[in-house]
Amino acid sequence: MTSNRRICVYCGSSPGKRPSYAEAAKALAKELVKNESDLVYGGANIGLMGILANEVLALDGQAYGVIPDQLASFEISHTGLTELFVCNDMHERKKKMSQLSDGFIAMPGGLGTLEELFEIWTWAQLGIHKKPIGLFNVEGYFDPLISFINISVSEGFVRPGHISSLIIEEEPAKLVKALTNGKYETISKVSH
Ligand code: AMP
Repeated sequence: MTSNRRICVYCGSSPGKRPSYAEAAKALAKELVKNESDLVYGGANIGLMGILANEVLALDGQAYGVIPDQLASFEISHTGLTELFVCNDMHERKKKMSQLSDGFIAMPGGLGTLEELFEIWTWAQLGIHKKPIGLFNVEGYFDPLISFINISVSEGFVRPGHISSLIIEEEPAKLVKALTNGKYETISKVSH
């Protein structure tokens, strides 16, 4: 592995309905390579995942995939990656992705993407890591989610610091830059 900074990107195994999602994945790939950040992702060659990894590789960047054994054929693992880590299950996958990475970005995706975002976000809440977490808010895709989290804050279930610690950006260049300089400001869950 290179000693570059490594950014994990969670995104859809589907391409989404609008072409702008694929364009955004390519734009993010470009910014990662420009910032000498290697990609860590779920290792598939489908949907936004495949588009992102292929663009990183096309630009001579490094792309590391992590895929569970049982998913490897179902999700069509990428055979041209810098390195593909095959693991035993979903939990191992997410742990490995988090260990490999210095920061995390979620871009549009489905249940898997949301689950991955919430897991890494709750790990930050618990102080398990202090790595920055960003939302690539393409086409305002995450606006309803952000609104809902704000409701959770105003209803007293989430501390305000957890929404303000999330780096929310529509511009990939700004997002990658903010992630490179940032860390998650952990607020102890205990001092509620
Ligand atoms: P999706 O956003 O649902 O298209 O899925 C994006 C990625 O998340 C794919 O690689 C899925 O295999 C993965 N995924 C789906 N469900 C889970 C889960 N429970 N834990 C970890 N990864 C998941």
